[in-house]
Formats: sequence, C-alpha cells, structure tokens
Amino acid sequence: MNALPRRITLLQNATLPDGSTCDVLLDGDTVAAVSPAHSFATGEAHAEAHTAARATPHAADDATLDLTGFLLLTAPADPHSHLDKALSWDAIDPPMGDLVSAILAWRAYAATMTTESIVERARAAALLMLRQGTTAVRSHVDILLGDDPLRGARALVQVRDELRGLMDIELVALAGSDVPDADIEAAIDLGIDLVGGSPHLALDPGHDLRRLLRLAERKGVGVDIHTDENLTGALTLAEFAREVRDWPADRNRSAGHCVRLGTLALDDLSDVLDEVEASNVGIISNPITNLYLQGWEHPVSMPRGLTAARAVLDRGIRFAAGADNVRDPFNPVGRSDALETASLLVIAGHLTLDEAYTAVADGARDVMALPKAGATVGARAEFLAIRATNLSDAVANASADRYVIHAGNLVAQSTVSYSVAEPTPARHPSLLETR
Ligand SMILES: [Zn+2]
Repeated sequence: MNALPRRITLLQNATLPDGSTCDVLLDGDTVAAVSPAHSFATGEAHAEAHTAARATPHAADDATLDLTGFLLLTAPADPHSHLDKALSWDAIDPPMGDLVSAILAWRAYAATMTTESIVERARAAALLMLRQGTTAVRSHVDILLGDDPLRGARALVQVRDELRGLMDIELVALAGSDVPDADIEAAIDLGIDLVGGSPHLALDPGHDLRRLLRLAERKGVGVDIHTDENLTGALTLAEFAREVRDWPADRNRSAGHCVRLGTLALDDLSDVLDEVEASNVGIISNPITNLYLQGWEHPVSMPRGLTAARAVLDRGIRFAAGADNVRDPFNPVGRSDALETASLLVIAGHLTLDEAYTAVADGARDVMALPKAGATVGARAEFLAIRATNLSDAVANASADRYVIHAGNLVAQSTVSYSVAEPTPARHPSLLETR
C-alpha cells in the first residue's frame, strides 16, 4: 500500500446510490467530471476532463482508484461530537446511567485532565472517525471550571491544526451556566469557532440561552446550542429560533439533541417548527447517545429519546445527525462510524435509508455550512467508497473495506479479508433424508 495521503485524480467504475456506475475525474479538491463507467479507461475523456487532467499532472497508477464493487458516497460529516470526552470510558469506569450521572462522573474526571491527555484522546477519536469515512467534524469542547478553564480548548485547537489537510474540524465552546462570559470569550479568541452551551440544564434556561446568544453576537460568531436534551422540562427551542431569526444569513445557528421536541403533541410541535422554519435553525439529532441517556426512569415502554425527525424533515428544515459521545460517561459504546448513526435513524427514527444517510452526509454538511460535496461536477471531492452493492447493503453491513477521500486526497484505506468455512451438507443429512 502506498503512503497516505495521496493525490487522486480518477475514480474508476464506482457504483452510485442510484445503481449506475461511473468514473469521477478530480481536479485538485474539486470534482471535474462524472461520466459513465469506463469513459476515461478508454482514453476517450471529453474535453473538460482532458483540461482537468492536464491541470493536475500525476503518475497514472497512483492517482487512479479502481472502485469496482464499491459504492461511492459523499463522505460523512459529524455535526455533533465531543472529542475532548471521547474514549474516556475505560479510564473513568463510570456507573451506567442518565445525563445527570454522566455529567457528575465526567466533571470529577475533567478536574484531573491535562492538556496533553486531552490531545491524545481527541486525536485518536478524530482519526477513528476519519478511518471510517468522516472527513468533517464539529466538536464541542468543554470550557472547564477551576484554574485552567481553557485547557480543553487549547487541546482541541492543537488537534484541529495537526489534522488540517486530513479532515475539517470545527470547534464549539461548550459552556455551562456557571462558566463566566470572560472564559467563553477567551475561548473564541483562542480560535474556537462557535458559541455553545446547554441552557436546559441551567436554573433559568431562558436567561442562560439569551446570555449565550448575546455573547455570540458580540463576538460575531455562530452558535450550536445543546437544546432541550430531556424528555420533560425545559423547552427553549422556540425562543432560540425567535432570538436568531434576524441574524445575518451567513451566521450559523443550530440546535443539538432537541429531545423534548420529540415528545410534543402534534399541535405544539407544529407551533415550535413554525419558529424553527422561519429562523433557519438546523436541527441535529444524536440517536446513539440519546437512546442511551434518556428513559432510565421508565421501567416499561421506554421512550426513544430522539427528536421529531420525521416532522422536521417533512417541513424541509435543515436536519443532520451525529454520534455525539463515543465511549465516555455519556455513551459507553459506539464505533465512530456515521453508518451506525444512519442505521439508528432507520431503526429508532423510522427514516428511509436515503434520509438517514443524507442526515449524516450532505445534510450534515449543509447544517455545518460546508461546501457541497460528492459526485457532482463542481462539488468538493469528499468521498467514502465502501464495499457494497447499494445503500441498504452499506448501512446494514457497514463493511470495513473502505477508501476515504478528503479534498481530492486518499487519506484512509482499510482492507478486510474474510475466511468462512465451506458448508459440508453431506456430513449433516437433512431431516428428510434420515426419515
Ligand atoms: Zn453533545
């Protein structure tokens, strides 16, 4: 296997989700042409392709990927992760439980973390996601309490800078209601991209929400707020939407979790979605973590803890899904794989396979305000090629046989080989034969 990253200029004989097969010509980080399979193998590339190929001289073999037997998908983007928390489950060994018990276990551990230890876990978690195909990640990072509140922020800025060129990482300052404004502002000055928080956990949720929005306005940045991550209690989404309705169109605003939204009666749900629709707030669901965190108080008929995904999609509201926590006190499991999230959206959220994959790829890129990506001329060359015949095969089996392309470079490749014993029916006569 040649060294990575490696510039790729031609993807050959890939299967698209619509069942067609194609060749995709790349010009740097951009898709230059998408043509029927073998268009370029015959040397009869059309004029646009020739132009692009000349613009990017390369050694043909190294720069071509034969994707026969692989499904070519827009690379996933994860709109809601916590790289500073990820992979801490084993070290913390917390009790299993709900959101409050996870927060208590996390806070005790967080007090002992060094910047270096956060860097190690965050880097490992990001590279796990990249290996699985996710080339863009939005991660929240706790603004901590105590002497050095910005050590998580510094760690994640370092990881973001280290991994530049391999994946896009965007950071959100996650501040509890007890974190002073000055610490959040210092995090933004350090290079954190967005303001975040979790007002539903505050004694006065509306007050904390407005504080965070005013702070974002002062700093001229967008927000991504942990919103109503509970089955009962605070419902702040409508006020959030009203408050940001007149923001400039290019200032990002999104609401993560929105679990409470999924519990509302249809009339109330419709009223809140009117506000969300009018304000262009993106809704981010986190199925694996909320299926774990919610419902502990329900011994029977346990609710699913998801947002109202169907109603959100039917309204045409921007919708995305992420894994949120991975192997930390908020979720002990998780494969860092967007196909796991897509699978849960189908099973627990009743979305179609197309809707579910869109939520973890093109939809997530839209909510994150990233450029369009995938097999469309002019789009960014961000791809996951996975051994599969179609999308249902990809989501169901989630083969580890994958190629991952970021900005026209092959940045990860996994190859799997299986050995399965041949069936030997002669040794096991059927019931019919033994009678
Ligand atoms: Zn979160």
